[in-house]
Amino acid sequence: MDFRLSEEQEAIRTMALDFARDEIAPHAVDWDQQKHFPVETLRAAAALGMAGIYIRDDVGGTGLTRLDAAMIIEALATGCPAIASFVSIHNMCAGMIDRYGTDEQRRRLLPPLLTMDVLASYCLTEPGSGSDAAALKTRAVREGDAYLLTGQKQFISGAGESGLYIVMARTGEEGPKGISAFVVEKDAPGLTFGANEKKMGWHAQPTRAVMLDNVRVSVENRLGAEGEGFRIAMAGLDGGRLSIAAASLGGAQSAFDKALAYVQERRAFGKAIGEFQALQFRLADMATDLEIARTFLWRAACALDAADPEATKLCAMAKRFVTDRCFSVANDALQLHGGYGYLADYGVEKIVRDLRVHQILEGTNEIMRLIVSRAIMGRK
Ligand SMILES: Cc1cc2nc3c(=O)[nH]c(=O)nc-3n(C[C@H](O)[C@H](O)[C@H](O)COP(=O)(O)OP(=O)(O)OC[C@H]3O[C@@H](n4cnc5c(N)ncnc54)[C@H](O)[C@@H]3O)c2cc1C
Repeated sequence: MDFRLSEEQEAIRTMALDFARDEIAPHAVDWDQQKHFPVETLRAAAALGMAGIYIRDDVGGTGLTRLDAAMIIEALATGCPAIASFVSIHNMCAGMIDRYGTDEQRRRLLPPLLTMDVLASYCLTEPGSGSDAAALKTRAVREGDAYLLTGQKQFISGAGESGLYIVMARTGEEGPKGISAFVVEKDAPGLTFGANEKKMGWHAQPTRAVMLDNVRVSVENRLGAEGEGFRIAMAGLDGGRLSIAAASLGGAQSAFDKALAYVQERRAFGKAIGEFQALQFRLADMATDLEIARTFLWRAACALDAADPEATKLCAMAKRFVTDRCFSVANDALQLHGGYGYLADYGVEKIVRDLRVHQILEGTNEIMRLIVSRAIMGRK
């Protein structure tokens, strides 16, 4: 086993790090303060192949692996975790279409996603069902060659700005087997959006409710067969969870780098605070946590790439562990900045706020423990 990256992987990582440093990081605090969603910057990232990272190349995708995706999202998140996370969600939606769509759907729907001329949102959560996603109530009633979708989705990232929504809705019985997945386009009559939610972090991307009132969706826009929607939604989340973890890792790495520089400049008691061994030890622990998080994230990504039967468990483990440890590293970086860490200009409090939600979404970290415990106890 060799943990070194190939030359190609190093080049991809460097490209994404450079993009984050030049195009994202200089604006990140401002976008956060202004609650600005930088669509043009997203399109510039797409032009470098970052909107279809693991989409097959016959439709113009970049054709890389989940391991590559983890590296790219981590690198983007060194500029801004909220932006990297939206890129992650967009890639997850594109990946679901690539993997479960028909040839016709792939050729029709993917090209505008790959340029980010059309952004994509993932619509699973509802007001009455988050962790218990299989209890969703949005209904899709077949009428001739179409379905009529009625219900509400909650907390949808990118909603109102995205042009394409992958909506999980009930076509049959209660529980996961009665759910199907649909591609809904933004201009569909009956589709409306709530106000942009006021949140703790992730200000650089909008979060809105999505309301569906008899929205007509043609059969050609159903992803997979009837009843396959929950499986498709969960399969998308395996990779999505790796990317959310990667976004935590990039954010925490950036907070760590800021703290490392700060302790060498800031003076107290006649010396640089970085000369206090207590702070050196804290930095040593933070650096170790980042390395462990990265190594395990890559391990889970390789398992997903290899279609390892343990991949779902490993992705859940990685999501829980990496997002928890990285939140803690970012919070420690804030502490090392003293009072200045609490000020917006230093960019560290923003990272802490952004990373907090990674412990909640794409399955809370309690639900990650549920997935892991079921797997190790041999239960479905
Ligand atoms: C900013 C933001 C963006 C989001 N983006 C999207 C998106 O794009 N698309 C989308 O579909 N969703 C999105 N979500 C929704 C997110 O995935 C849900 O909030 C999350 O799954 C939790 O659901 P809930 O909020 O209903 O909490 P609940 O399910 O009500 O959970 C409340 C608490 O109970 C715990 N809990 C629940 N069940 C169990 C159990 N069995 N064992 C132990 N503990 C349990 C949870 O871990 C949590 O701590 C987003 C959320 C936020 C905040």
